[in-house]
Amino acid sequence: MTREIIWKGNEHTNSNDRGGIVPVAIVNHISAGTMSSMDSWFRSPGNQVSSAHFGVAKDGRIHQYVKIERMAWANGITADRFPLVTAPIVKDLGINPNLYTVSIEHEGTDGDLTEEQFQASVWLHRYIRQYVRDKWGKDLPFDDYHVIGHFQIDPVRKPNCPGPKFPWSRLYKALKNEEDEDDMVIKADDWMWKQIYNILGAAYNQGKIEWQWCQKVLDRTLTPAEYTHVLAVINARAQGIDVDAENPAG
Ligand SMILES: [Zn+2]
Repeated sequence: MTREIIWKGNEHTNSNDRGGIVPVAIVNHISAGTMSSMDSWFRSPGNQVSSAHFGVAKDGRIHQYVKIERMAWANGITADRFPLVTAPIVKDLGINPNLYTVSIEHEGTDGDLTEEQFQASVWLHRYIRQYVRDKWGKDLPFDDYHVIGHFQIDPVRKPNCPGPKFPWSRLYKALKNEEDEDDMVIKADDWMWKQIYNILGAAYNQGKIEWQWCQKVLDRTLTPAEYTHVLAVINARAQGIDVDAENPAG
């Protein structure tokens, strides 16, 4: 699936030269606020303290504030806090982590990502890895040495970044898969497809979902992410909650 990265950085966005150092790690963060507050803070002339390369919204939108070639201000620590670092790569390298990291902010508070946000973040991790490969010919392995959380760099000031609910094991598992989870069509036999059609067809007959979802079952192009989404829509509408059932994949 192709996603769009929307450039949001401006002349006030904090960044520096990486000093020739190639990014070799990805650091995950939680924004502790909304996407629009993140946009305005990272673009504000009054912000002299922080920035990140990317922000991933709850609806799956991806905003970019700093070019990968440059260093963002997301993971800096003072020398006196180095002994508290728990991330092995940060201990091993011993220099300002901003120099060799790419940072992803996630809209939210406790790390509990929406499905759209999770899929966008997985895609973005892959995009960054490919970018580093294309630009510098270096590999950025998807393991817990190279893909880390802010709390591992600054456990005292940022113990809850990206938060207790951040889906670490699911993220590592998804990153190790060759394909995007949301690119894969549901793996089902004829009987299973018929069951899915029966469920969605009944919901269509009750006016709870649009026909396009049933058509995707008939075409056998429905993905796991879409199925999860449409079941959530059916459930919400059964409870009288008004939701937007547009295909999140566009
Ligand atoms: Zn953080």
